[in-house]
Amino acid sequence: MPWHVEEGVPCMQARDVQHLMDSPWMASPKLWHDSFKEQGLDVHIWVHDTLPSDLDRFVADHVAFTRSQLSFFGSFPVDEYHFLYLFPDREVRHGVEHEDSTVIAIGPADRVKSEEGYMEILGIASHELYHAWNVKRIRPAEWTPYDFTGPCPSALGYVAEGVTTYMGDLFLFESGIVDLKGWCALMTKLLERHVNNPGRLNMSVAESSFDTWLDGYRFGVPGRKGSIYVEGAVLAFLCDTRIMERTNGKASLSTAMRLLWERFGQPRIGLTADTYWDVLAEVAGERLDDLRRDHADGTKDTWDMLVHAMSTQGLTLTQSKDEKGLTRVTIK
Ligand SMILES: [Zn+2]
Repeated sequence: MPWHVEEGVPCMQARDVQHLMDSPWMASPKLWHDSFKEQGLDVHIWVHDTLPSDLDRFVADHVAFTRSQLSFFGSFPVDEYHFLYLFPDREVRHGVEHEDSTVIAIGPADRVKSEEGYMEILGIASHELYHAWNVKRIRPAEWTPYDFTGPCPSALGYVAEGVTTYMGDLFLFESGIVDLKGWCALMTKLLERHVNNPGRLNMSVAESSFDTWLDGYRFGVPGRKGSIYVEGAVLAFLCDTRIMERTNGKASLSTAMRLLWERFGQPRIGLTADTYWDVLAEVAGERLDDLRRDHADGTKDTWDMLVHAMSTQGLTLTQSKDEKGLTRVTIK
């Protein structure tokens, strides 16, 4: 939110109530701050409480994934973006997207200082920045604008959170923050969550998305439904590899997301499932109706599709059972 100082008092000015409710701010005597400019965008990083061990690396990694995402989309919705971090010395994991900022909380302090915790922060940060385009602008029609007076479930959680989860991780790889081995490790974790959730075979990710508005992230019956994050990201990976395969690598899901940004995000036209799949078909040069039918609207097992999708990237996907009976996934 733009701000200025009036008679010594900082003033923030919101366009409307939605903008006001979407603009978090922090006031603290111990705020660390740095900023950088990337492709015309002013990016600010604010940290309250625990600081990551290597602050130069922290900023450099933000520059890397921001640069990479901006290059793929070609433009950013606003002139200024703020990462607001709270790293308290207590157990917390949280990240929320806003139009021109994100609030991310991770703790305790030991986790923030560790390499694993550091990569977790970057994973969430990349995910939330991607939301500035996908969700805050490329937005399901049901949430355009968001109606706070009543329920507004959407079946498009697999685009809103699925594509964002997949792309957030992929941009860590595209920007060189993780190498291929690192990306495979992220995908292994994702696929193990996917194959070990029987709910994906019980309720489609589109229906699960609808239900997520009702039972949220915590209160669902175990094994009843899929996750818009996990199953949605798996579907995004299948779409991405399909488009690359059909176009000999000339286009990808990122090409489709850029078109969606230009045609729906920028003019703020609400997205429907039909328009989403139409744009993917346009980019792929053929319809992806089997993926929509079987893995967005249907509950068909994805394993064979996943093995093939990995093979298009020169990777081999296998599975085995561990001593607890859980499926373990290997990508080589
Ligand atoms: Zn998200």
